[in-house]
Amino acid sequence: MTDAVLDYPFDAIPEPGALVEVAPGVSWLRMPLPFALDHINLWVLEDGDGVTLVDTGVASDTTKALWDTLLAGPLAGRRVNRVIATHFHPDHMGLAGWLCPRLDAPLWATLGEWTYGAMLAFDDSTAFVDNQVAFYASAGFAPDMLAVVRERGNPYASRVVPIPPAVRRMVEGERFTIGAHEWQVVVGRGHSPEHAALWCPGLDVLISGDQVLPRISPNVSVWPQEPDADPLSLFIDSLGVLKATVPDSVLVLPSHGRPFRGLHARIGDLLTHHDARLVDTLEACTTAQRAIDLVSVLFKRTLDVHQTFFAVGEAMAHLHRLVATGTLERRRDADGVWWFSRVSSMGSGPLAPGESH
Ligand SMILES: [Zn+2]
Repeated sequence: MTDAVLDYPFDAIPEPGALVEVAPGVSWLRMPLPFALDHINLWVLEDGDGVTLVDTGVASDTTKALWDTLLAGPLAGRRVNRVIATHFHPDHMGLAGWLCPRLDAPLWATLGEWTYGAMLAFDDSTAFVDNQVAFYASAGFAPDMLAVVRERGNPYASRVVPIPPAVRRMVEGERFTIGAHEWQVVVGRGHSPEHAALWCPGLDVLISGDQVLPRISPNVSVWPQEPDADPLSLFIDSLGVLKATVPDSVLVLPSHGRPFRGLHARIGDLLTHHDARLVDTLEACTTAQRAIDLVSVLFKRTLDVHQTFFAVGEAMAHLHRLVATGTLERRRDADGVWWFSRVSSMGSGPLAPGESH
C-alpha cells in the first residue's frame, strides 16, 4: 500500500522497563510479544495522586518481570487507580487478571470486550475445539492444518491470565476524567467486538489501540465464534466515525509502531488498502474460490502458522463484505466448504465448485 507521509515526533523508543513521556502526563512503555509482531505499546496516564494504566501486555513471565521492574522503579509508590483495556486481545487484556488484583485496581473496558475475553478465557470445552475445526474446514484447510487447529485447542486461554471477574463498563461517547483531563471513549468495531479508543481533546491525544496503526493494517477477520460475520463493513464504518469525531491534529498513540500525527491521512490509507484488496478478491472470484485460496492472493509474503490463521480470517472478511454488498455469492459443497464466486450480471449464476478446477 502507498502510505501517506506521517509525522513521527519521537525517535527514541522506550527501553524495556522504562517510560518515555509523549504528552504532559502521558507516558509510553513497550512490552515484548512472542509473535512476528514483536512489541506492544502501553500507556501510563497521570491520574491525580496515582496513575491509570492503559493495556497490560500478553501473559508471559517476561512481561510480568517487566511490570515488576516498572512498579519497583518509575512507578514505585504510585497508586494505580484503574487498568483500562482497549480490547480483549491477549496483548492488551492478557495480564489484567494478574495486575488488577495485585494493584487492587478495577478493570475498565467495554462490555463487549470484557465478556468476549472472559468467554474465550474460560472455554476449554470439546465443543469449542470442534467449532474451530468445522470453521477452518469450511474455509478449505487441508487435513494437516486441521490437525494443527485441533492440537492448539484454545490459543486465547494460553495467552491470558483469567480475565478479572468484574468490570467497570465504558460506553461509546462516555467522558470521564483522568487527572487534569477529560477523555472520551470512541468505540470501533471490526478489529474486535467493541474496541475502545480514548480521545483527550485537552491534550490533543488519541490512544488508538489497534483500531488505527501507522505501518500495518489492523487485522480484520472472521472468527469461528461468529462464522457469518461481516467485520470489514464494521471496520470501514468505524473508521468513518473516528474521522468524523476526532480532529486530524491529534497525536495518535497506537498499540504497535510509533506515535504519529496524520490520523485522517492514515484512515484514508486504510480505506484505500481495503478497497484494493476487495478488487483483488473480486477478480480472483471470477472462478469459484475458497477462503484459503485467497490467502496467496491477498498476502504475498510467506506466513507462519500463527499468521495463516489471521490471513484466512482476513480473506474471509473481504469475501463476506462482497457477499454483503451483493457482488459475490457463496455456496457450500458436500464437504461443508464455502465457495465464493461473482454474481453474474448475465444471470447465468456463479461457477459451481468443480467447474473451475
Ligand atoms: Zn488487537
